[in-house]
Amino acid sequence: MTSLRERTVLESWPRIRKRPEELPVRPHLLDYEATRAAFSWEAARAGLTGLPGGGLNIAFEAVHRHAHGARASKTALRWIGKDGSRRELSYAELSAEALRFASALRAHAVTEGERVFLLLGRVPELYVAMLGSLSAKCVVSPLFSAFGPEPIATRIRMGEGAVLVTTPELYRRRVEAIRAQLPSLRLVILVERGETRERPPGTIGWSEFSARGEGAFAVPPTDPEDLALLHFTSGTTGRPKGAMHVHAAVLTHYVTGLYALDLHEEDIFWCTADPGWVTGTSYGVIAPLVHGVTNLVVEAEFDAQLWYRILQDEKVTVWYTAPTAIRMMMKLGAEAAKGYDFSRLRFSASVGEPLNPEGVMFGLEAFGRPFHDNWWQTETGGIMIANFAATDVKPGSMGRPLPGIEAAIVRREADGTVRVVDEPMVEGELALKKGWPSMFRGYLGEEERYRKCFAGDWYLTGDLAKKDEEGYFWFVGRADDVIKSAGHLIGPFEVESALMEHPAVAEAAVIGKPDPIAGEVVKAFVVLRPGFRASEELRRDVLGHARKRLGPVVAPKEIDFRDGLPRTRSGKIMRRLLKARELGLPEGDLSTLESDERPTGAAP
Ligand code: AMP
Repeated sequence: MTSLRERTVLESWPRIRKRPEELPVRPHLLDYEATRAAFSWEAARAGLTGLPGGGLNIAFEAVHRHAHGARASKTALRWIGKDGSRRELSYAELSAEALRFASALRAHAVTEGERVFLLLGRVPELYVAMLGSLSAKCVVSPLFSAFGPEPIATRIRMGEGAVLVTTPELYRRRVEAIRAQLPSLRLVILVERGETRERPPGTIGWSEFSARGEGAFAVPPTDPEDLALLHFTSGTTGRPKGAMHVHAAVLTHYVTGLYALDLHEEDIFWCTADPGWVTGTSYGVIAPLVHGVTNLVVEAEFDAQLWYRILQDEKVTVWYTAPTAIRMMMKLGAEAAKGYDFSRLRFSASVGEPLNPEGVMFGLEAFGRPFHDNWWQTETGGIMIANFAATDVKPGSMGRPLPGIEAAIVRREADGTVRVVDEPMVEGELALKKGWPSMFRGYLGEEERYRKCFAGDWYLTGDLAKKDEEGYFWFVGRADDVIKSAGHLIGPFEVESALMEHPAVAEAAVIGKPDPIAGEVVKAFVVLRPGFRASEELRRDVLGHARKRLGPVVAPKEIDFRDGLPRTRSGKIMRRLLKARELGLPEGDLSTLESDERPTGAAP
């Protein structure tokens, strides 16, 4: 494909050509255009079973349908504890435990539609409770286990939680003091390990709770439009938004597991995301189980050497991770991955933030496979845009829409309608044609906020992007993070990617800083790789590199060196917080803030 237009900095990276015939397993999506043309959601439904008597239930598709057939004794969950202990649950066992949990909920008078909150680390009971609650047609809301009392209280109050499953430690430290503020909470189940100390009043132990359940429980008739999951996503300010998802979403999980993650029967699949976030639910629980693969769960947090060992020892074949982790591995260099055997790894993907071209290439260098970036958000419930196993990767691009998904770049008009931008590589808002099964069905209690996300047939994502001549999408930035300088719209992703090309730069985040002449100028916050020290000379060198790559208008005017960047617990850099701090503005909702930045103070 030739074009007279100038290529962007991101597009200057060489394309990674795929030779599908050389791949160890024949990918499900071989011919992108033909698969898209032939695709229909109705036909894709054939990959699911459906409840006996009709209807669709996520838990039934994920486990119960496998529990009596050829996969009954196959390992569904392979769990590796923080201390190295292991537990394996077959499909039959996971199904039986989930049904027992569902039956125990009923025995404790928990009815269909009631909300079950999960506040647990990545322990086997989390998976049992999630699948059990869905089997009982309760609505599941997973919470990240590092949340403090306030975000927990807000979410349980908003979601009118009836049940909470947690651990004694988390209960004592985070919930006990706020319990009186949560009148809807009738049942608190504690997952105990080892010796049981005296249990806090108003709680019940997991074993005692489960003992009231029976192995025989019939999943009730479930309409595909019945509410299944409630995922909270934090707004920039104010209350979090509760994105509501229905059982029909499982069809998206199935289709994206097939095409975007290329799951095959023999796979050992590892999604590193915590189920406290949507990725850890859609792809850490549902999609791999729907496909009947072995789903690896690692309780411990990120540690590069541990991860390399797990990839090798567990013979992981498909790996789904995130740019933050990739950048942390890059910081140590590809040499740190040498000496491990990653020959079983067939496909690796990344989501959650833009993946810099450097990150894609690091995959090739360290693991022999590029990372395949894909894009989606809490509201979409599943992967919408992806780089696929058999198709070429353009480093820096998030790929092309999945079969069944229509994506476009649009501009909002003054009258509230949107216009589709047809010209290649012209910036606009990323929009998706309504109607895919896992589309959120509302924000809890906020009808107006939900309505504002749509214009005609389009769902507006709030992200800015471009689309090239071949239909690949290129992320520009979240609409809130885009910088306007001297009449130009500057996307943080391209600037950050250019900075990351510099050998001293491990991570970068840029913001717009008010400027009397240009409106805004670009300011960069940079974390250095080990072995580099902040200095005026290095600052000039990095600025010089950025100017060469981006030109004087787009390149940062200022650089601050930092030890780290503020990020959410799900790993996203919080540019808005960098900006608020820089400008002395209110910091807004910090409930999802994990690590914090500290200036090195090394440079003037
Ligand atoms: P959340 O709903 O919290 O999962 O956040 C979704 C947002 O993360 C998206 O709207 C994007 O701004 C960002 N995001 C997720 N994946 C990608 C990606 N592959 N490239 C760029 N941005 C991404």
